[in-house]
Amino acid sequence: GEPPEPLWRHTEHDYSPDSPNSARINATLLSLVRNEELHELLPTMKQLEETWNHKYNYPWTFFNDVPFTDEFKRATQEATKAKCTYNLIPKEQWEMPSWVSKELYDESSKILKENKVQYAGKVSYHQMCRWNSGMFYRHEALQDMRYYWRVEPKVKFFCDVDYDVFRYMQDHNKTYGFNINLFDSPESIPSLWPETIKFLASHPEYINKNNAMAWLTDNQRRPDNNVKAHGYSTCHFWSNFEIADLSFWRSKAYEDYFTHLDRSGGFFYERWGDAPVHSIALGLFEDASKIHWFKDIGYNHIPFYNCPNSPKCRGCTPGQFYGGESWLQREDCRPLWFKYVGTG
Ligand code: GDP
Ligand code: MN
Repeated sequence: GEPPEPLWRHTEHDYSPDSPNSARINATLLSLVRNEELHELLPTMKQLEETWNHKYNYPWTFFNDVPFTDEFKRATQEATKAKCTYNLIPKEQWEMPSWVSKELYDESSKILKENKVQYAGKVSYHQMCRWNSGMFYRHEALQDMRYYWRVEPKVKFFCDVDYDVFRYMQDHNKTYGFNINLFDSPESIPSLWPETIKFLASHPEYINKNNAMAWLTDNQRRPDNNVKAHGYSTCHFWSNFEIADLSFWRSKAYEDYFTHLDRSGGFFYERWGDAPVHSIALGLFEDASKIHWFKDIGYNHIPFYNCPNSPKCRGCTPGQFYGGESWLQREDCRPLWFKYVGTG
């Protein structure tokens, strides 16, 4: 359906790219990406520009752990009228922290491999997950920003979106917008929930009265997770898509939670993703009514889809959730979210 009024249509407000008094708020499209992924990023950028951003001209902010090439900068800036900035991640945000033992990391990655955890042993993947969990919002390029929309190379956008989604977040007091909601591989996060429980024991004051704890702990459909993830349902918002308010990550609750997790070493000794880390924090510390399902934004990151039934969409099948093997349907955790929180 349609989002509630006011819609902030580009036709009624000034969204021209260079206007000093434009209706844009402090928000950006954000992408952590490698130079080698330029040719997978460009079609994604073009689709998001065509379906949404050519009307609003929100700036793009790119991040990389190595300098962007001139070719990357030229080609991406050519794909949009909006302003692009290119940012290097400082070493102290990206590198394995000093308290993580390289020996223990090597040992544990053997176990992760035996358990068939994807990307086990690829240290840059662990670094990426840690940066996306607890570092990106500290980068100086985002200091004046309030909202961001995270974009990865290769993802697809199927539907025309005719309102300012950042303005929507602000006007409706939303903290976090998701698109796809999944179960996770419990083998990648065995001690994430136990560490979370330890943290909560010393900080019960951070738990929100209207939390989504039930979504995080319902293990009826996946009794296996109760054992392997020690009580965590593994339900999470798939964070390759997120439209969110940076203030949440900058809050004392999240800051303390991330620091606790980071000190435990689990980003390296296990393969904690930023998706379960973000999702657990949101489910515990945020009012669940401030979390919004962007069901109107048609989206694909292989192998999952969010495909609305709307004349504004093309390129996916209405209601489609997966592409490929039919067992993927079982990975959908939306039913639990709807059961405990609702569809609002
Ligand atoms: P997956 O979706 O979990 O399979 O992981 P991806 O390979 O898509 O990585 C997630 C995001 O982080 C993508 O936007 C990648 O471009 C980016 N990324 C992953 N590893 C690195 C890295 O080492 N350097 C940089 N600059 N970006 C990375
Ligand atoms: Mn990806």
